Amino acid sequence: MPDSPCPPVPRVLGVAVPSPLRRLFDYRPCRESPPGGWQPGLRVTVPFGRREVVGMVAECRDESELPLSRLRPVAGCLDDTPLPADWLWLCRFAARYYQHALGDTLHQAMPGLLRQGRALEARTRERWSVTAAGRQEAPPGLARAPRQAELLAMLRQHPHGLVSQAILAQSFSRDQLRALADKGLVARHEEPLAASPAAEGDAGLAEPALPLNREQAVALAAVHERLDGFHPCLLHGVTGSGKTEVYLQLIEAVIARHRQALVLVPEIGLTPQTLARFRRRFRAPVVALHSGLTDHERLDAWEAAASGRAPIVLGTRSAIFTPLAHPGVIIVDEEHDGSYKQQDGLRYHARDLAVARAHHHRIPLLLGSATPSLESLQRAQHGDYRHLRLTRRASRHAPARLELVDLRGRRRQGGLIPPVIETVRETLAAGHQVLVFINRRGFAPTLACHACGWMAECDHCDARMTLHRQPPLLACHHCDRRRALPDACPECGSVDLRPLGSGTERTEETLASLFPEVPVHRIDRDSTRRRDALEQMLAEVRRGDPCLLVGTQMLAKGHHLPHVTLVVVVNADAGLYASDFRALEHSAQLLEQVAGRAGRAAHPGRVLVQTLHTDDPHLRLLAERGYDALAGQLLEERRAARLPPFRFLALLRLEAPDETAVVALGGLAAEALRQRIGERGLAVDCLGPVPAPMERRQNRYHLQLMLAADRRSQLHEAGAWLVAWLEGRPEARRVRWSLDIDPQTL
Ligand code: ADP
Ligand code: ZN
Ligand code: ZN
Repeated sequence: MPDSPCPPVPRVLGVAVPSPLRRLFDYRPCRESPPGGWQPGLRVTVPFGRREVVGMVAECRDESELPLSRLRPVAGCLDDTPLPADWLWLCRFAARYYQHALGDTLHQAMPGLLRQGRALEARTRERWSVTAAGRQEAPPGLARAPRQAELLAMLRQHPHGLVSQAILAQSFSRDQLRALADKGLVARHEEPLAASPAAEGDAGLAEPALPLNREQAVALAAVHERLDGFHPCLLHGVTGSGKTEVYLQLIEAVIARHRQALVLVPEIGLTPQTLARFRRRFRAPVVALHSGLTDHERLDAWEAAASGRAPIVLGTRSAIFTPLAHPGVIIVDEEHDGSYKQQDGLRYHARDLAVARAHHHRIPLLLGSATPSLESLQRAQHGDYRHLRLTRRASRHAPARLELVDLRGRRRQGGLIPPVIETVRETLAAGHQVLVFINRRGFAPTLACHACGWMAECDHCDARMTLHRQPPLLACHHCDRRRALPDACPECGSVDLRPLGSGTERTEETLASLFPEVPVHRIDRDSTRRRDALEQMLAEVRRGDPCLLVGTQMLAKGHHLPHVTLVVVVNADAGLYASDFRALEHSAQLLEQVAGRAGRAAHPGRVLVQTLHTDDPHLRLLAERGYDALAGQLLEERRAARLPPFRFLALLRLEAPDETAVVALGGLAAEALRQRIGERGLAVDCLGPVPAPMERRQNRYHLQLMLAADRRSQLHEAGAWLVAWLEGRPEARRVRWSLDIDPQTL
């Protein structure tokens, strides 16, 4: 590149520092300019209060609101070149859209080591390979060095060479390597640790693609014919209909054009099998980004994606912030999944950011789901997304319908009623596996006194404490407080304390005693704390011997369990009458996902759903006509009730230990906002403040204020004003508050 003249040095740098304040802080440049001149995206260390922090240049200007003489200089610049521009764009977009501080957004969206000031560099390793001289028949100088000759012979068997670690593991030494290198027989190369092309061999397919069925082919062609341009599609296909196969073949087409694919999967979906399936298919490196990585691994993966070396990046929510040198497609699997929404700090939705990002890059976007969110369905119906359907399973059997089973007046054992237990027995006797879904971990939802009706409650939350048996204790699932089991009722002294209801542990115990001849595997957050515990259990289940699986939604999603033919839902009622307007949608998605575990291979499946509300119209619609029919109905109800996706919401949450401070601030904020809305003539409704559904949580009082509008721009104007107002109020310093744009839970 020809030497371009350095841009003139700006007089002021607007720096985003990791702080909740929604503003930049002005500094003067330090004496030494970075090699490419001052630009947005360079990390700098700056004095901030009494500390020195890592911030980022966001603006280069010549003016400041402060006299220039009062500005302090930045302490130093950490980068020679700015961090990737596409990443910076997305962070700016997210900060603006979610009304969050840019400094904090950047901080959250970069790997930990970059936050600490490390360089954006990949770690490397050494690879040794044979030179042309070393490939000769009888290379000279080895007659009296038998180990060197053996080492050379070994390396000759590896056309792509071997990394030092692998060589040393064969009890060869560095001295022997160096000796061979001095003789010119082997050569040493440095290569990045992550996504190194040499390690993977030739690009192309490792495992052949499956011949697509008609629907899959139509879906693939629809995306494939327009790889240049923003082109959002909803891939709406029943569980097991081969959506993943469509993703894989789309990625193949994208990487053949030397572009990169970014694939998002839900937290629960990034299993070793998913990763293995991608790695089996492609010879190209697949980089995985998830919470289990070390800081170094995360930085390596980030660098591999940013440099363009990693053609395929697979990750959970935060992977949407992975920079890409040559973006080619973004795929969001299970786009309806709740784990895409970040619930604290920068409250972003990774699927929604994926839409913005694909639009920005002008690339196709594929949102896949068996049970699409009402947001995405509405956009598909409206024509904003192309609606691609996969209605048939690759295996022989259509997904099973839900059979509602009336719980009323029936004796339950471990949550199950006798006819259901009978069906379990028959299924096991036929040599099949049974999955029992119960969305409550622990032994029982609470412990109760039979004499006076006392129930174990958390001192810090408006919630009951869950009874656990392994180990025995009471735990609050909202704040993690734990307590020893009481010997007697704290109210009346009675010793007649009994578990109330069933959780996974109790159902497991009951099933183990009813069916001692088969193993019972419990799968929930408690039983899978140990790394690999889940994989070990699933590996055993996949061997196919009759067994019982008891689990929470951990088990309900994503896993392919070919030998399960009966699914039992212990209680379907949780979402039916909840106050949150999305509860029904989410619970229908979960039920359909659970049902999708049944009959995925050779045998048809059955799904028994226990409920106290067999006449509930929504539940009946789901059971009789499936998720799509229910979703259609729910969309109509949302339209009538003027709720999302037909309206846009933002939720202000306020919390503090002191209830009066929260209530006072909430009242003032609502009043000020209403006045502002009136002055500006905005069509924004301001609802509340009202106590949060769980008023007291973690010993803090929670209050909320809802903003609703037909037009997003007006909602944003009101939200931005409210946030600025709160930042300026002294009372707001004693209250923790946040604005959640497009809240997913109320
Ligand atoms: P989904 O992602 O929709 O749940 P998958 O892609 O995991 O579905 O496919 C489910 C099963 O069907 C897998 O075992 C897969 O190998 C198989 N499958 C998918 N597409 C085809 C096809 N075209 N021909 C044969 N089998 C297929
Ligand atoms: Zn009592
Ligand atoms: Zn609690």
